[in-house]
Amino acid sequence: MTHRIFEGWHSHGRRVAVATKVSNADWARLPHCRSVMLAEGGKLFFTGKACKRGHVSPRNEHGDCTQCHLMRLAERRDAF
Ligand SMILES: [Zn+2]
Repeated sequence: MTHRIFEGWHSHGRRVAVATKVSNADWARLPHCRSVMLAEGGKLFFTGKACKRGHVSPRNEHGDCTQCHLMRLAERRDAF
């Protein structure tokens, strides 16, 4: 695993707590912001904050919530 500048206990603890609550503690191991994700060459990051639709899930390289992304894909598929 790549070494990453530690985000700080406050931020880390909050993300671990949120990730555990939504039953995916692995998310807490994702970068906490997009710039760190890009520096590591990853595809996802996890802020621990809800998106505008209330999903607490990782964000992709565009900063989009992955749940919203899946919903949009499903909507597009259903439109055909
Ligand atoms: Zn969302």
